[in-house]
Amino acid sequence: MRTITHWIGGRETAGDSDRRATVWNPATGQRQAQVVLGSKADVAAAVAAATSAFESWSQASLSARTRVLFRFRELVAAHLDDLAELITAEHGKVVSDAAGEVQRGLEVVEYACGIAELLKGEYSSEVSTGIDVVSVREPLGVTVGITPFNFPVMVPMWMHPVAIACGNTFVLKPSERDPSPSMLIAELYRRAGLPDGVFNVVQGDRECVDALLEHPDVAAVSFVGSTAIARQIHLKASANGKRVQALGGAKNHAVVLPDADLDFASGHISSAAFGSAGERCMAISAAVAVGDRADGLVEALADRATRVRVGPGTDPTSEMGPVVTRQAKERIVDLIGSGESAGARLRVDGRNHLVPGHEEGFFVGPTLIDHVDTGMAVYREEIFGPVLSVVRVDDIEAAIALINANPYGNGTAIFTSSGAAARRFRRGVQVGMVGVNVPVPVPVAYHSFGGWKDSLFGDRHVHGPEGVAFYTRAKVVTSRWPDRAAPRESVSYDFPTGG
Ligand code: NAD
Repeated sequence: MRTITHWIGGRETAGDSDRRATVWNPATGQRQAQVVLGSKADVAAAVAAATSAFESWSQASLSARTRVLFRFRELVAAHLDDLAELITAEHGKVVSDAAGEVQRGLEVVEYACGIAELLKGEYSSEVSTGIDVVSVREPLGVTVGITPFNFPVMVPMWMHPVAIACGNTFVLKPSERDPSPSMLIAELYRRAGLPDGVFNVVQGDRECVDALLEHPDVAAVSFVGSTAIARQIHLKASANGKRVQALGGAKNHAVVLPDADLDFASGHISSAAFGSAGERCMAISAAVAVGDRADGLVEALADRATRVRVGPGTDPTSEMGPVVTRQAKERIVDLIGSGESAGARLRVDGRNHLVPGHEEGFFVGPTLIDHVDTGMAVYREEIFGPVLSVVRVDDIEAAIALINANPYGNGTAIFTSSGAAARRFRRGVQVGMVGVNVPVPVPVAYHSFGGWKDSLFGDRHVHGPEGVAFYTRAKVVTSRWPDRAAPRESVSYDFPTGG
């Protein structure tokens, strides 16, 4: 069986540990590879390579760094289909959706290509007589990314292009469920001319993550994953003196006002709920039907849900693939059952969805549950599957209150034809990313991505200007060049106040 390895110091290595995890093919339910699970020694080797590479990479000119990024951009674009195929093989999402993920990641690389502009400092001339001040931002050192299974290319790309462009080195610990795309990314960086040790991949699980969080030479940690782990990572990394941003899980609501175009809203909500089998942190998992048109919305959503073409991600006619593992499927099926037992109405039931020829695949069909209330597990839990709950409320104030009472605050959307209602909504919701008639409001690369409340621990969002701020620290230089010919001022022992 194929073994997926680490990438340390510019080359593949099986490392020091004999622990392995299975990589499944979610469409067939078969084992397809094994991935090495790194030890403390593997982490030490990767951090040592990154520490050593930092000495010269942090001193490389802006032009030299930019040139590598432009070449990397071209290589990723040229290998977009290869990356998409690797994603589909291990994650299961349909290949067109996988290509979309690579494209959105590529946009962060394009943003990072402008690093010379982004790192321009600030200069104040003559702040006091003969004194000038310059503020610059410098890299941190070895930075780490710990990433989830659901976007194996895009989520790491929220991090490494910006970190590397800023002059840092990077150690990526991808999800052990879909580890292959990160190895192709490493190879493309090598071919782009990135010096060995600037980008490293350590495969592994908790053992590896703990070693990264404890390593004294790691300066900063970016994490994306579930809330329970994000909270732990934030605490542990902070306790070890590291800068940390830890993005967690989500429960995203789409509010549909009575004045919305139901056909438009139901189409977009269906796509946001069932695209990528609901395994997106910005997926819509709760539709909030406001007022008296709820029945019409449910009918339209049910019609859409039953028409989604479910099949293997490699089939170009599939619109939705399997979920990632058998355990994920079992958990989703149990949560659907819990909603039914709690009194919700199962309008479309995807639990026994069979894909001919793929009976062992981890498929769950699109599922629509009506009359869900906020006490039910199916509402409270992040299901991370193709399950859409409908909650009914009387007015927009009740919809906003419902969203604000939820512990998560990643994304939300409103469907309406009223500008005033949309404005009331965007100002009232305690959520980091808001869509108005846009169901999945993932910010473009030159804005920053991040949620509020239990969807993000730490204060910086990823990519865009906040990403640059996260991967750099400020240095402010105050300087004067005394004129030997000019008369000297007398030295004062008071605190300097300028003049
Ligand atoms: P996960 O939390 O299980 O794993 C994320 C990473 O943490 C992986 O690399 C994993 O190996 C590692 N990990 C797992 N358990 C650990 C432990 N006990 N100690 C240390 N490290 C551990 O998440 P997942 O299932 O891979 O991904 C799905 C989750 O990610 C969902 O909750 C989803 O909402 C979230 N997500 C959030 C965003 C966002 O931007 N907020 C984006 C994508 C995914």
